[in-house]
Amino acid sequence: MYLPPFRYVAPRTLDEAIALLREHGDDAKVLAGGQSLLPLMMLGLARPGVLVDVNGIPGLDRIEADGDAVRVGALVRHRAVETDPRLRAACPVLADAAPLIGNIRVRHRGTVGGSLAHADPAAEVPLVATALGATVEVRGAGGARDIPVHEFFRGYLETALGPAEVVTALRLPARGPRMGYGLAELVRRSGDFATVSACAVLGLDGGGRCTHAAVAIGGVGPSALRMRGAERLLIGQLPGDRTLDDAADAVRAEVAPESDVHASADYRRAMARVMARRALGAAVARAGGESRAAGPGAVRS
Ligand SMILES: Cc1cc2nc3c(=O)[nH]c(=O)nc-3n(C[C@H](O)[C@H](O)[C@H](O)COP(=O)(O)OP(=O)(O)OC[C@H]3O[C@@H](n4cnc5c(N)ncnc54)[C@H](O)[C@@H]3O)c2cc1C
Repeated sequence: MYLPPFRYVAPRTLDEAIALLREHGDDAKVLAGGQSLLPLMMLGLARPGVLVDVNGIPGLDRIEADGDAVRVGALVRHRAVETDPRLRAACPVLADAAPLIGNIRVRHRGTVGGSLAHADPAAEVPLVATALGATVEVRGAGGARDIPVHEFFRGYLETALGPAEVVTALRLPARGPRMGYGLAELVRRSGDFATVSACAVLGLDGGGRCTHAAVAIGGVGPSALRMRGAERLLIGQLPGDRTLDDAADAVRAEVAPESDVHASADYRRAMARVMARRALGAAVARAGGESRAAGPGAVRS
């Protein structure tokens, strides 16, 4: 397979990149890690005439963590997410999600901003960002704007990014006291995109009751989805096995996947329940609740 011809430009500043994107309109695409865009081009599914390589723009590869939030620059590679100690301390759920992405070669090139902009419904970064209620920072000709993640993902491979806008960072809330998380995903082979994935984030009060509950499921719709029914069942409750089973049942009832070549709708629905239950069990254990041991950061089966 060969890449179709294209013009390559490597701006040194964000303003220059935005100007190039404006100038070339629909014919231009941002190039970050190239791990999604280049395969699409080789398959003939994307044919941009101009690639705007943002890798040389300084400042987009920073990880900044203060007390309340973590800011992950768009050019931060998945491998850096996996290994950066500050990020792991402040946002362990994202750090644990990174090793689930593809393989080590993909993780050394692929970026957080690219994963967000590509918006694959089974991708790990959008899943975790959705569960955490993160914010996507973008910049365009009109200046900078913050987009809440639930508004950023518009559908299958579709986002709220404007034509000449660039993702500059992902902002996530830092882990609070008595907050726990769990990740679980089903893959056909190691390195594949998940068939179904789940991320749960729970916060407990001093008495062990849920004060915060977020459950996101990937692979069951056009983008990762929050399970509001399950979350409502958890709030105010002691998250014992019965409560978690009920919440997982609610996930199964709430998702409406479609059948495709990888899995039937029924199988995806059943697996959404299983993955949600595993993620919830791990989240409770990490938050110091009464469920069983958390085990590894992320469970893959
Ligand atoms: C073999 C293989 C296995 C993979 N497995 C997984 C997996 O299991 N889970 C997973 O989540 N991903 C997986 N991926 C995809 C990988 O995570 C990519 O890194 C990611 O989807 C895109 O990031 P990128 O930096 O490579 O983006 P690119 O491929 O460079 O770009 C992707 C899209 O985003 C746009 N874009 C990129 N950066 C920006 C930006 N800053 N602002 C605006 N638009 C931008 C591009 O124009 C393009 O449309 C896999 C890829 C491969 C090749």
